[in-house]
Amino acid sequence: MPAAKPGRRRGAATAQSSPATLEADAVSAWFGDHKVLERVSLTMPARKVTALIGPSGCGKSTFLRILNRMHELVGSASLAGRVLLDGDDIYDRGRRITHARREIGMVFQKPNPFPAMSIYDNVTAGLKLGGVKAGREDKDRLVEECLTKAGLWKEVRDRLRQPGGALSGGQQQRLCIARSLAVRPRVLLMDEPCSALDPTSTRRIEETIHELSEEVTIVIVTHNMQQAARVSDQCAFFLAEQGTPGAIVEHGPTDAMFHAPQDSRTADYVQGRF
Ligand code: ADP
Ligand code: MG
Repeated sequence: MPAAKPGRRRGAATAQSSPATLEADAVSAWFGDHKVLERVSLTMPARKVTALIGPSGCGKSTFLRILNRMHELVGSASLAGRVLLDGDDIYDRGRRITHARREIGMVFQKPNPFPAMSIYDNVTAGLKLGGVKAGREDKDRLVEECLTKAGLWKEVRDRLRQPGGALSGGQQQRLCIARSLAVRPRVLLMDEPCSALDPTSTRRIEETIHELSEEVTIVIVTHNMQQAARVSDQCAFFLAEQGTPGAIVEHGPTDAMFHAPQDSRTADYVQGRF
């Protein structure tokens, strides 16, 4: 195999990305006439893990989908406010939706690899979806790198041609993380990524989150307060009271949210009183 020429331009697939600060500015959201979020403002800083907590139905998933322009795919959905990625509004006219998706990846509650596709092809599928061109060598390198970062490489290196669907649930979720990483996102959104997993797999994903936070900004929705306490640097507590739209009651450093919350509703929630 010929060595790469010195000074050879590295393709997009091997370029480094850097974590970005994501900022929601007065974001409100509707499904038809039903307002589900009320002027949510939150800064999610680079190199930090932000946990979004709060009861079911308070708009956490909707907020997450707004952060990478998935909300607008629902026919009845609309929104107001801005989402800034290192200061640039991802909703600016002229900015393509695919661009936002590439920079801001998403991992869902239920692991959703392409089950019949090989482990290798699952990782590189992210490239195709993100419109990134890569040669064979780039791909091989990237597959190893992304699977390593997702904590899966050692388990699958000898069976990259096996279908993604043959993996355990926890492994499938790590494969989905690897797939997201392939396009070098600057932010990774995770919507309850461990709710479908056993405790051991959950801990593996938490370790991965911890290691990834140096290179990608992480925003995670979780119902598990211990998990929020373990993985996050800051928390935002969402609540939708008596039919009002979801809003942030309180946000701040995770330690403060758990040990010295300012609002009694936050104290009740983090202590499991509702
Ligand atoms: P959470 O993730 O905190 O449980 P969601 O963002 O899923 O909350 O939901 C917030 C509100 O938006 C709920 O009232 C829910 O019923 C409503 N909602 C969510 N998705 C849709 C949709 N596709 N169409 C209509 N209403 C929706
Ligand atoms: Mg949700």
